Amino acid sequence: MNDAACLFCRIVERKLPADIVAEEEGLLAFKDVNPQAPIHLLIVPTEHVPSVADLTERQTPLIGRAIHFANRLAHRHQLTPAGYRLVINCGPQAGQSVSHLHLHLLGGRPLRWPPG
Ligand code: 5GP
Ligand code: ZN
Repeated sequence: MNDAACLFCRIVERKLPADIVAEEEGLLAFKDVNPQAPIHLLIVPTEHVPSVADLTERQTPLIGRAIHFANRLAHRHQLTPAGYRLVINCGPQAGQSVSHLHLHLLGGRPLRWPPG
């Protein structure tokens, strides 16, 4: 069940425009509207899950599949062998601003660590 008030559910349902780069069963990848690197994609489950902390046991395989999807997108965007970063923010103190689970794929420039 998707949430009509959720930004990323609306993107999944094509009710809000987004630069969609790839889709596979249960997952959608689109460009971040405010990119923090030359390549900045968001990978989201098509099913509404508020945060990584809310994943049920049934839903946990989604994360493995999302990482595998991100790895293939990184390869497709020539981010290997230079490298890339995958980030999941969880909750307000970690900077999660959209309450629909998303994996950030960042690359195309040197990325500092720790992020601050
Ligand atoms: P968070 O801070 O929750 O980890 O990441 C949310 C991300 O969603 C941010 O990087 C932000 O730029 C992106 N974002 C917010 N609203 C939209 C939108 O309407 N479309 C797209 N494509 N990205 C969005
Ligand atoms: Zn949602």
